[in-house]
Order: sequence, then structure tokens, then C-alpha cells
Amino acid sequence: MNSNSEVIETKSKTGYVTCMQILTTSNDSVGAGSSLPGDTWQQHLKQAVRTVPQLLDQLELRDNRAFGAKAEATFPVFAPQPYLQRIRPGDPDDPLLRQVLPIDAEDTSPADFSVDPLGENAATLKPGLLQKYHGRMLVVATGACAIHCRYCFRRHFPYGEGPAGAALREQLAQALADDESLDEVILSGGDPLTLVDGAVSDLVDTIEQAAHIKRLRIHTRLPIVIPQRVTDALVARLSSSRLQKFIVVHANHANEIDDAVIDSLQRLAASGTQMLNQSVLLRGVNDSADALVELSQRLLDTGTLPYYLHQLDPVIGAAHFEVSVERGKQLIKEIRARLPGFAVPRYVQEISGQPNKTVLA
Ligand SMILES: *Cc1c(COP(=O)(O)O)cnc(C)c1O
Ligand code: SF4
Repeated sequence: MNSNSEVIETKSKTGYVTCMQILTTSNDSVGAGSSLPGDTWQQHLKQAVRTVPQLLDQLELRDNRAFGAKAEATFPVFAPQPYLQRIRPGDPDDPLLRQVLPIDAEDTSPADFSVDPLGENAATLKPGLLQKYHGRMLVVATGACAIHCRYCFRRHFPYGEGPAGAALREQLAQALADDESLDEVILSGGDPLTLVDGAVSDLVDTIEQAAHIKRLRIHTRLPIVIPQRVTDALVARLSSSRLQKFIVVHANHANEIDDAVIDSLQRLAASGTQMLNQSVLLRGVNDSADALVELSQRLLDTGTLPYYLHQLDPVIGAAHFEVSVERGKQLIKEIRARLPGFAVPRYVQEISGQPNKTVLA
């Protein structure tokens, strides 16, 4: 039996754990039924749009027939209001809409697309911990995300399987104690900032207690999707850490970065955190030199450096987003002629079994 069929089996047993399932079952996250005032990030998660009809109604696209019912059934819609408000109503080609709306094209994938293109199952060190690269340990802090991105390889990841809370911290403390060659811990997921501030802080405590760990990195899309997530408590916890801090956010298009997002990124930077961005090269979203230049410039305005531009992982359901490597290299060449060197992301591809991400341009 190959690993793909194992993943499919796990999926059919557990179903996909959406953000709300995590939020209503885990003590680390906001509790079910608690009443929250107005404009908090938890409120935005609770009120996120989760069906295609709701999405199309809100965006004045009721007559649009492009959505995929089958695609929605395998990976549900999840999009919070602060993100949806940056989408142009009535435009089925909006670059932000394309990232969240299921379409029929998701049902057809070439044979070389798979459910585990990165071999993540093989890289799992212990449940919840991944190590592919020297010196860096990646923690799957939660399976939950604040948005469901249609191109994501995690759409097939067996979420909800890993340890959480104290069990995860114990695993992590043990793994760090066992390996003195590690000097960096990456909090990832899912999205680690779907955890409440107390839970994030507890994880940072565990990492700080390992004396040989120098750097903390957080991979998160939340400051982009729901900028209200950048709470004073989060900023304060980062400020007070002895670790060197990096946050890698994830925006694919300049329209994702509105005034509230600029403010959230600047506040994180002010905590002494180096801000970086990663994007995925996506057909119909950012596959033009103009779109990539505008994205880099908007990021620079916030003090965030473009870090990676990822070649799409060949995950089933995402083939319609694919841009050829040849075209990607051409785009990098064009934007390099228009931007300072530090504003040009490294164009990379993840090839399983390699000791690092492969730089294409
Ligand atoms: C991408 C990735 C990293 C980080 O790699 P960098 O090149 O240092 O950004 C670490 N661990 C895993 C499992 C990854 O997929
Ligand atoms: S791209 Fe990031 S935020 Fe989007 S679904 Fe995947 S892991 Fe979650």
C-alpha cells in the first residue's frame, strides 16, 4: 500500500478538521459559545464564511456557475470577513477570490499530482514534529487555519491527529533536549496563531527553556487574513523573548495588504521581529511581473522582506493554479530588473529528499 492511500484512509475516518472544529474542541483555543465583544480575531473566525452560496451572495456573484460542489465537499470554504472585504464585488477573476472559491477545475488533476507531494508523512519525527532540514525543527502547533487556500498541499494533510497543549510541549521539550544540533524552532501548522495568546506563549516558554535554541520562527497567514490577531499581548510576548525572532507571513497579492494589515505588520516589526513574506506563484493571481512588483513594493512599505516565491506543490485539486517553471524564471528575471535586490524573492521548489529547498532563480 502506498502512502497516498493511507492518507486518504485517515481523511475518510476523521474528516477535515476545520478551524471551528478545533476552536470548539481544544482548550488552547477560544471556547465554544463564549461571547466575545465586536471586532476581535476570535469573533472574525467564528463569523467566517463557510459555504459557496454565502460567498457568492456576499460578493454579488450569484449567477456564477464556476464553483465546484465536489471540491467544496472535500475541502470546505473558510474565509473571514476582514479578508473578504478586500475582494472586489462582482468580479469572478478577483485575485483574492480565486484563492478561496472552489471551482470545478479542482476535480481534474494530472497523474503526477498527489495528496502528499512533499513526503511530509516520511519527514515526521514524532507526531506534531517535522524535521527535514539541518538545524531547524518544525512544530505542527495546530491543524487549524484562519483561511482555506485552494492551492494548499495541506488540504490533504491528516489534521487533528497530532498532539496539542501540554502533550505537544512535552514532545517538543524532549526532542529539543535530544538534539543539540538544533538552533531554530519553527512554529507552523496549519496556522500557529489560531492558538490563543496563552497557548502561543506556553510554546515559546518551552522553546526558550532549551538553552541551545537561538531562533524562533513563526509561519503564519493570520496577520494578513485577520490583522486583529496581532494583539498587544502577542506583541509583548515577542518583545520579551530572549530568542531572535522571525515571522514569515504569507501574502500572494498586493490587494491582500490593506491599511489594517500594514499596521499589524509594522507592530510585529516593532517587537524586534524580522518580518518576511512567502508567496506561491499562482496562475490568475500573481503570474505577472506587474503583480509581483506591486506585491514586493507593498511588503517593503510595511517593513516586510519578500523571502520565498514557491513553485506550486503538485497537490491534487490545485493543477489549475500551476505556472510553468520556465515562465516563473522569466518573471523573476523581469522583476529583478525593476526592484532592489532585497525585494526580489528567491524562487524555490520543494523537492522531497533534498537537504534544502531548491532555488530555481
Ligand atoms: C520549508 C521548511 C523549513 C524552512 O526552510 P527554510 O529554507 O529555512 O525557510 C523547515 N522545515 C520544513 C519541514 C520545511 O518544509
Ligand atoms: S496556505 Fe497556509 S493558511 Fe492557507 S490553508 Fe495552507 S497552511 Fe493554511
